[in-house]
Amino acid sequence: MPEGPEIRRTADRLADTVVGKPLLSAWFALPALKPFEATLPGHRIVAVEPHGKALLTRFDHGWTLYSHNQLYGRWQVAGSGERPGTTRSLRVALDTADSAILLYSASDVALWRDADLHRHPFLSKLGPDVLDPALDAGSVERRLRDPRFRNRALAGLLLDQGFLAGMGNYLRAEVLFEAALSPRARPFDLDDDKRRRLAAALLAVPRHSYRSRGIAPARGMRSDHSSDAASAFRFHVFDREGQPCPRCGAAIVRETLAGRRLYACPACQA
Ligand SMILES: [Zn+2]
Repeated sequence: MPEGPEIRRTADRLADTVVGKPLLSAWFALPALKPFEATLPGHRIVAVEPHGKALLTRFDHGWTLYSHNQLYGRWQVAGSGERPGTTRSLRVALDTADSAILLYSASDVALWRDADLHRHPFLSKLGPDVLDPALDAGSVERRLRDPRFRNRALAGLLLDQGFLAGMGNYLRAEVLFEAALSPRARPFDLDDDKRRRLAAALLAVPRHSYRSRGIAPARGMRSDHSSDAASAFRFHVFDREGQPCPRCGAAIVRETLAGRRLYACPACQA
């Protein structure tokens, strides 16, 4: 499943394509959304915003399209009226005069009034998004001290979208490595220094991944965008079982924690 940085890059690509242009047509596969095919044309999309792993496509008349891709959903950009051949089933098509954004295979799609969105069952449970530029390390530190979160092992907490949205499995491993913390530690166990280090890593690692526009496939290799090569995001521990830790040289171990594979250095994350 894509994590926050990948979802935000998708949102950027969709926004670049359609924001500000009036819709020529809207099409929905779900019968419940059919009435909106008549009311959306003529309106403009004003923003495409990720919220954790959901995407909010906001219209200029107080309505928002909520979509969550779960495992199979995928957004795609196409020319106006164009429907690329695919075995996936089309769920949403929003066309402007020169381009379209198409959603395939997702089933969790709905239109909400902006004023009601805070009551959405998924959105209302989300913590702040690690890629929201307004989120600062002080707020993350306060969250780590919160009684709701402080007694939970980091391995589970860092996957909980109610703690911080946009985190995911590779980010969990890389954040814990960056902060040099054991996945079994709880926020409660951390001294001020370690808590500060964790809060900083929880923001820095996802943001670096987002900015570097792609994950370098292996240690030392360049990213696919040569202009970003100097700051390419690469895995230090994730998917690197048995390889040397870049910090201390110990062999990286893989284990299953909170139901997902986790990679860590047994020495510097003891
Ligand atoms: Zn190490």
